Amino acid sequence: MKPYEIVKDIFIVGGPDITDGRDACVYLINLGELILIDTGAGWSVDSIIGNIKKLGLDPKNLAKILVTHCHIDHIGGVPEIKRRFGSIIYIHELDASPLENGDPVLTAAKWYQTSFPPTPVDVKFSLPEEILTIGQQKLICLHTPGHTPGSICIYLDRNGKRILFAQDLHGPILPEFGSNLDDWDRSTQKLLDLDADILCEGHFGIYKTKQEVRDYILSYREQYGMD
Ligand SMILES: [Zn+2]
Ligand SMILES: [Zn+2]
Repeated sequence: MKPYEIVKDIFIVGGPDITDGRDACVYLINLGELILIDTGAGWSVDSIIGNIKKLGLDPKNLAKILVTHCHIDHIGGVPEIKRRFGSIIYIHELDASPLENGDPVLTAAKWYQTSFPPTPVDVKFSLPEEILTIGQQKLICLHTPGHTPGSICIYLDRNGKRILFAQDLHGPILPEFGSNLDDWDRSTQKLLDLDADILCEGHFGIYKTKQEVRDYILSYREQYGMD
């Protein structure tokens, strides 16, 4: 599959069907400056950058990387992209130390038979909701613990649509990741309440109607015994 524009100014530039089977989906928002949401598992940085160029965008404008949580399939490309473009790295404070310590278990690097070098982050979120304003556009970063303690989801309202980036909302819920099912219950309820039009998800792709987004979230709530 090729990278493409999902809706105006929002692109998928990496993921299991686009760059590498080990990558979680990598999304890009073009607001004049470029904002990357997650970075893949680390083996595909060149392909991700190539895809950004193919879409007619300049990777030199990669100003920010929003990291949804501390797992290797999402963070692997962070050190290299930071090194090449000086992008500012944002993550929730509760998921920051696995990156900063290169923790093989909490980053799940061990699972992927690789390692993650200790990598300092620039900005640590700590509030239930943090708002980044870029030009006229607000990006809302919601703390949605469950899969990991510091998982975040990001949403924006643009051109009449609410677009939600919710990477590993499906789980898994595992003690070694610090997962918490009660937190997950509250977080997924919050995501339902957003009533998003489009869901850009981490491993299973993109859902493009309110109903599909709702059904997707509800299917996992049912699986985990909620409602
Ligand atoms: Zn994960
Ligand atoms: Zn993942």
